[in-house]
Amino acid sequence: MLELTAEQIRMGQSAADKSQALRLMASTLETDGLVAPGYLAGLEAREAQGSTYLGQGIAIPHGTPETRDQVFTTGVRLLQFPEGVDWGDSQQVYLAIGIAARSDEHLHLLQLLTRALGEADLGEALRQADSAERIIQLLQGAPQELALDAQLVGLGLAVDDFDELLWQGAHLLKRADCADSGFAAKLQQTEPLPLGDGLWWLHSEQAVKRPGLAFVTPEKAIVHQGQPLTGLFCLASLGEAHRALLERLCALLIEGRGQVFSQATSQRAVLEALGGELPVDWPSVRVPLANPHGLHARPANVLTHLAKSFDGEIRVRIADSGATAVSAKSLSKLLSLGARRGQVLEFLAEPSIAADALPALQAAVEEGLGEEIEPLPAAGEGETFESPAEAPVAPAAGSILPAIAASPGIAIGPAYVRVAQRFEYPQRGESPAAERDRLGSALTEVRDEITGLIQRSESKTIREIFVTHLEMLDDPALSEDVAARLQQGESAEAAWAAVIEAAASQQEGLHDALLAERAADLRDVGRRVLAQLCDVEAAVEPDEPYILVMDEVGPSDVARLDRARVAGILTARGGATAHSAIVARTLGIPALVGAGPAVLALAPRTLLLLDAEHGRLHVAPDANALRRAEQARSEREQRLRAAQAQRLEPARTRDGHELEVCANLGDTKGVTAAVEQGADGVGLLRSEFVFMAHAQAPDQATQEAEYRHVLDVLAGRPLVVRTLDVGGDKPLPYWPIPEEANPYLGLRGIRLCLQRPQVLETQLRALLSAAGERPLRIMFPMVGSIEEWRQARDMALRLREEIPVTDLQLGIMVEVPSAALLAPVLAREVDFFSVGTNDLTQYTLAIDRGHPTLSAQADGLHPAVLQLIDMTVRAAHAHGKWVGVCGELAADPHAVPLLVGLGVDELSVSARSIAEVKARVRELTLAEARTLAQRALELPSATEVRALLEVR
Ligand code: PEP
Ligand code: MG
Repeated sequence: MLELTAEQIRMGQSAADKSQALRLMASTLETDGLVAPGYLAGLEAREAQGSTYLGQGIAIPHGTPETRDQVFTTGVRLLQFPEGVDWGDSQQVYLAIGIAARSDEHLHLLQLLTRALGEADLGEALRQADSAERIIQLLQGAPQELALDAQLVGLGLAVDDFDELLWQGAHLLKRADCADSGFAAKLQQTEPLPLGDGLWWLHSEQAVKRPGLAFVTPEKAIVHQGQPLTGLFCLASLGEAHRALLERLCALLIEGRGQVFSQATSQRAVLEALGGELPVDWPSVRVPLANPHGLHARPANVLTHLAKSFDGEIRVRIADSGATAVSAKSLSKLLSLGARRGQVLEFLAEPSIAADALPALQAAVEEGLGEEIEPLPAAGEGETFESPAEAPVAPAAGSILPAIAASPGIAIGPAYVRVAQRFEYPQRGESPAAERDRLGSALTEVRDEITGLIQRSESKTIREIFVTHLEMLDDPALSEDVAARLQQGESAEAAWAAVIEAAASQQEGLHDALLAERAADLRDVGRRVLAQLCDVEAAVEPDEPYILVMDEVGPSDVARLDRARVAGILTARGGATAHSAIVARTLGIPALVGAGPAVLALAPRTLLLLDAEHGRLHVAPDANALRRAEQARSEREQRLRAAQAQRLEPARTRDGHELEVCANLGDTKGVTAAVEQGADGVGLLRSEFVFMAHAQAPDQATQEAEYRHVLDVLAGRPLVVRTLDVGGDKPLPYWPIPEEANPYLGLRGIRLCLQRPQVLETQLRALLSAAGERPLRIMFPMVGSIEEWRQARDMALRLREEIPVTDLQLGIMVEVPSAALLAPVLAREVDFFSVGTNDLTQYTLAIDRGHPTLSAQADGLHPAVLQLIDMTVRAAHAHGKWVGVCGELAADPHAVPLLVGLGVDELSVSARSIAEVKARVRELTLAEARTLAQRALELPSATEVRALLEVR
């Protein structure tokens, strides 16, 4: 890394003009062996492209990319011009810093210099400096600003005493790069100062990297030295940077406004009171920087010029660095980022200019900001991107975040944030005996903890999961491996973590869904023990019903939830048609997904209002918002009660048009509840669940019994069965499929079954045998071509010759755009279509329905999807065939009028949604719905379609 030294500086130089100064600089660099003689041409060419004047009497002449190969060694030379040199535009330069750079090593130096640029009168001081040491002092010694932003404020932390709170404060300062690891210990050696109102002050000048102030509060009241402790200020002190802040704080305390801090519930309030950097909530865009030498002066200059062309504020930071964003209009601030190739820049722009500014900035960075750039390698391919270091800042109290409503309803409760914990521990232990003892005690604690969970849980499934966890703790194979590692001197944590991870990876490697789940269980148990060993407190499940906050929730996570304790689900990532969302809907738990990573930073127990009716999350809502939500919730409950009372009545519009509302079933047992909920039939039996419930492919008799049960309970109502649909995100443990690069575009649904016709034939036989005289509709999933349909149909018709059934219809699921586009042809041959909007949306928009960040955009109300449904309905009706919709869109109350208006004949939804969907149909007239659908078809985006439906 380049550092400034006195040898690099030539004092008292003079030059008549800029070109003479450049010649002097080139010869100095050359004499000192840094560059070849031709470098002057590079300096001149660079100056011709744009002045290198930086501000405050400093210029940074340097070569062009073409003259980089004339650099022998990266280095700098500084020439002081006490009389000044005109650098163009009447800018007087008193210090020229010539840079010879082969790579981006000089960026650090620039970063350092730019800190000095904020100083008033620096130019004058440089001019008057009488020694090289003074120049260095001026450049380096400029007081640094006190860091104080949202990442330095931690509220409601789960701590038990003063020391723990101190460690948290020190941790925030370390994370913000203000302090070194030893800082906490230094703080501990100082005497804390009580400030009144339960507030305390601590500071240290040791182990400090840059000045910063952290403020932390405990979750519950603590007493320290006989006095209350409600908040602690920890200062990493360097020079005078904190003086203004201290004065401000004193003034507030004297005015008796200490409770701003002692009772603070939002980071914003604390920062506002202290005059800290407030987080901005502006539209943003992220762009990886591909410039070979990072954001050095020239590209930074191009960027500032562009930023200045917009009439509003634009800030930029290195994404996920936790640092405060700086103005993109300031060259020195931009250079102070020290951004390197591969790092991602995040631009934030004032809302009034964001729509124009952000795309322009993105394009400019992508095009190289005036430099030739090589594309960045994909992540994991050699060069690495900066790891997304710290969790983002939690949304402030009172804020409202948009998110995708994945399961309807309104839920209110404290946040229970479940994120992967990090554990830090030494690799080597004290002694094998001591480590064995530590592990033994940790295991005992965890056993007690889990036994308590088993005793408290009312759900059998959950009890079973924890019983398995207990067994894992006592697994002799694990204990032996751990003992062997301890014997070799590993610490208890290292040995335990390594053995658990090895066992879990081994299970996963077998590519079996059930064993993969076991791997997740193993890691779960593993984390519990590690938390115990490292003394890290696991987030405690609130006693009252809570909002579960997670990064992403897998279907098995949702299926394990205790309905009585989980009032709502909130995820940072995910979309509405992921299978986890479907399970949430089946369980009737309101869910918002794709709310963004900030929700993972929510303080434990933050009150949340999850409005999955409108797709909005209210963080720490005020009394008014809560009242309105309670009211909306009770209105909804009232509506649902009324709908429930009429659930057995047909769904008929006000002008007499009748639709069938049927149930989607994930297992055959659910049919009783479906009929009880008013289902006019079963519109989608996901038959793969019959297969998944068995350890090997169920034979004909086993399947027949399952289907017969459904038909019996339906008592004459129609049953639509989808034949086995596995592959993609739904693997069958006993039907291994070779690994595919794109499983969703690979062997799925009917494609797979046609490769194993025996499996399909057995299923069809079981279905036909179970039906007898009852109405049976069979449909094939993922049909994309007429040949697939014909092969499957021919098999069913051949079997029907053998096994007579009276009321059989054969159809296809419209899930692949090609099927919808072929509908006019297919409609001649099929008896019906059922539109699977989940997959149809995925394939139309080319967005993986389970994609962690994109799936939120996979909206079935996208006009492109609506067009395909419209085509399908028109084609079917032209041939007298019927069309159902069995994807999640059918249960979206906003979408129902549209689907009715498009002419869909049947809606198939989870049993819980039947009454509500029927009630929604009864509110409409077909004529109005048709007009609405026609308007929606003409709109350009899902957002506009949703807006059209919202206003109604
Ligand atoms: C669909 O794709 O819309 C559908 C109903 O099938 P699944 O969700 O089971 O893939
Ligand atoms: Mg599907």
